[in-house]
Amino acid sequence: MNDTSKCQVDILIKNGLIVPATGPHNVITKGAIAINHGKIVELGPNHDICNKYIGEKEIDAKNKAVMPGLINAHCHFLQDFLKGSRDDLPLVDWIEQVSFPRIKLAVQDYLAGIHDLQKFATLHGCITNIKSGITTVLNMEWATPADTIKIYEDTGIRAIHTLTITDNHNWTPSEAILNDEQLFNLTDQLHEHCKASKEERVSLSYGLACPNSCTEGIFIKVRDLANKHQIPIHIHLAETEYEFNSFSKKHGKTPTRYLYDLGLLGPDVSAAHAIWLTDADIELLKKTGTSVVHNPECNMKIASGIAPIARMLKAGVNVALGTDSCAVNDNTDLFEAMRIFVMLQRVANLDSTIVSSYEALEMATIGGARSLGLEKKLGSLEPGKLADIILVDLKAANMRPVNNIINNLVYCANSGNVETVIVNGNLIMEKGTILTVNEEEALDEAEAYAQKRFQEAGLAVPSYYLTSLGEDF
Ligand SMILES: [Zn+2]
Repeated sequence: MNDTSKCQVDILIKNGLIVPATGPHNVITKGAIAINHGKIVELGPNHDICNKYIGEKEIDAKNKAVMPGLINAHCHFLQDFLKGSRDDLPLVDWIEQVSFPRIKLAVQDYLAGIHDLQKFATLHGCITNIKSGITTVLNMEWATPADTIKIYEDTGIRAIHTLTITDNHNWTPSEAILNDEQLFNLTDQLHEHCKASKEERVSLSYGLACPNSCTEGIFIKVRDLANKHQIPIHIHLAETEYEFNSFSKKHGKTPTRYLYDLGLLGPDVSAAHAIWLTDADIELLKKTGTSVVHNPECNMKIASGIAPIARMLKAGVNVALGTDSCAVNDNTDLFEAMRIFVMLQRVANLDSTIVSSYEALEMATIGGARSLGLEKKLGSLEPGKLADIILVDLKAANMRPVNNIINNLVYCANSGNVETVIVNGNLIMEKGTILTVNEEEALDEAEAYAQKRFQEAGLAVPSYYLTSLGEDF
């Protein structure tokens, strides 16, 4: 077949080691993928695909793993600015001393019509996630103006923008709470902007902060709205022993049971953390089709506990993976999260066979897609699915030699090995350089603004800023 008889496609990736995440043994050692109009047209052995298709853009993936883009199912971009800032606080103290003051600032800025902090946080977060090979991210934020949605669009990432809802003034400071009218007006605006987003790459979910921070009324209202508008729900659930004990004392039931009894749980709900669960709670998650988002590094850093992920997987609960925020992690490296997940479950259960590297890969790809209701479109490399694909350098010293590609990706790789990122068939990072924004300028500008705004607001500025932006840096 000569070139003129070949079918032209937008992108042809060839010569790659393809890991489609459709099964632990489904690997194409020398393969190619044809991409057109944002979707995967066909993938298979190099010879077959290259004989059939010619790419307007051809990417030589020799010595690269070609895999689904990673899905970061729980993150907070505003806290990107707190990377490396704290090292010693338990969660409840951390929320009061670090998180609430900045949430208050975000809410008060929003009310005053000052939008830049959230917009710069979104820009910063998109860049750090793209660099890590994350093609879809769930970003949970407070009081984000509707024009924030354009930032995701411009950087090229796929995002589930999650507006945090909280109405319990006994738990959250009043200055950090939008009233019902403000909140649901903003939700409507964000929803409209998401629906109109380029290539429908940005969508909305309702973000309930946590069981303690919301009243029974708001849970019921959000459930009704979610049903009415077909908008998914995201929530922090059973993250601390404190939450578990306080619910048992106040309601005579676990936080999970409480949400189940209110009718909140369901297949459109993803719950971040889910550490403090009984066996009966795990059954409720399974029964309702609720997904769990595991954030092992955050849970370890602030010593919240070890989520019973192995038990959940055995029970058939869908589990996704998240990095959580850079204030409690402090990176967006989902490769590291895969590795840590496996090791933590094994040591917690004293069983080196309790979970596998492939289960970790599934959680970071198809499990993440399932947690967002997007498993038919994302999470694996299959014809007809959206072309969200990353290339990982197998020639990097830390990746060599490759003895088992799944194990190497989970145990050896880090986010710095990601070379190329494609979202919706658009090449947005090539050979380590983001093509949609000027990375260095954007990060400098975002950090300089955050430093200025935090100082103006009288917030303690971590010494990090003083050194990183000073003349000597
Ligand atoms: Zn969180």
